[in-house]
Amino acid sequence: MKTQVAIIGAGPSGLLLGQLLHKHGIDNIILEARTPEYVLGRIRAGVLEQGMVDLLHEAGAGERMAREGHVHEGFMLSFGGRAERIDLKGLTGGKTVTVYGQTEVTRDLMDARAASGAQTVYEALDVQLHDSDGPAPRVSYTKDGVRCEIACDYIAGCDGFHGVSRRSVDPGRITCYERVYPFGWLGVLSRTPPVDHELIYANHERGFALCSMRNEMLSRYYVQCPLDDKVEQWSDGRFWDELRARLPEEIGARMVTGPSIEKSIAPLRSFVAEPMRFGRLFLVGDAAHIVPPTGAKGLNLAASDVHTLYKVLCERYRTGDVDVLDRYSELSLRRIWKAERFSWWMTSLLHKLDDDVFAHRIRLAELDYLAGSQAGRTTIAENYVGLPYEWRD
Ligand code: FAD
Repeated sequence: MKTQVAIIGAGPSGLLLGQLLHKHGIDNIILEARTPEYVLGRIRAGVLEQGMVDLLHEAGAGERMAREGHVHEGFMLSFGGRAERIDLKGLTGGKTVTVYGQTEVTRDLMDARAASGAQTVYEALDVQLHDSDGPAPRVSYTKDGVRCEIACDYIAGCDGFHGVSRRSVDPGRITCYERVYPFGWLGVLSRTPPVDHELIYANHERGFALCSMRNEMLSRYYVQCPLDDKVEQWSDGRFWDELRARLPEEIGARMVTGPSIEKSIAPLRSFVAEPMRFGRLFLVGDAAHIVPPTGAKGLNLAASDVHTLYKVLCERYRTGDVDVLDRYSELSLRRIWKAERFSWWMTSLLHKLDDDVFAHRIRLAELDYLAGSQAGRTTIAENYVGLPYEWRD
């Protein structure tokens, strides 16, 4: 087989990149290790920046999101028994975010790809990259017991943090920066109406909590928990009690509870691999970086990488200029590090890091300062809605 761009991974990065390239006449094949059902079964992000919303429309996969997604003009910060609203729209000159689950984004992209006739190989096992530094890279894999090979111009490694693409790079050529946080997030999905029409991020002396949602009858809640906790230790009753205890009384009192339909514990990590281009291989999304979910940036960063890479590849194929490929890593990393900083800062500000009561009071003082300052609120708002994409046509 032969294609222009071989894409490894059919998560949001791979599917979105594939769709945008296809729209611009650039042939691509996606190789995914899992089944479509498995990929769709992963409950993850849910807050989309405007840049990602625009990109989904550009890819022809935005119609259902426009109908069913919820535009949010603000969110609540709760601390010290009070709740303060961050008016995203008012503070950023009209910018908002859209609440629409990653599962739905993935489903829409899968549907768009199926409709376009572009090829995706699911259950492609033992994917290996070959000669990505030379003029004729190849990707091999096993499908239904048969070893297959794709010759291509470029390889996009969209295969997440645990994928093969980053691991295929000689360790001497890649620098990794990492911070692993000493706590996790216990997440619960429940078929209950959300406690508020906007997200609530809560700092509390018992630990962080987040009230989020997917739609009017589907809530997603999180509480900070010890890293070594097991889901079995958290009955639904214990979870709801703990969540309520971390929210202002008035908010906790109006929370509707119900049986969980999904419950999981996720570790929190900050990670960046530099550079993001190795010859004809490009790392995209979680394959190159991870953020703790506090700032809702993971999925959105994947989208901004895709934006830069697809623009760079379109330019390369349109003009024949290969120097433009050099810009991918530099442009992507500039925006990534700013989002890493914001995610790390939000995490440090809102979580209980230790039993140091002085540190807790300092965090409360910082939240009080931010809430009372136009500059402080604006800083939070402009980072939350997403900094501008770096590529300029
Ligand atoms: P992935 O979604 O990881 O997709 C990679 C794909 O590659 C997968 O389908 C995988 O099966 C495939 N693959 C892996 N290895 C191979 C291989 N060797 N060969 C072929 N295919 C392979 N972000 C937020 O913004 N907000 C959140 O609330 C949030 N919550 C999260 C909760 C959890 C538990 C996790 C894990 C992540 C969360 N994120 C969140 C992050 C967000 O989901 C990711 O940033 C996003 O999925 C990145 O997309 P991606 O396509 O780059 O990677």
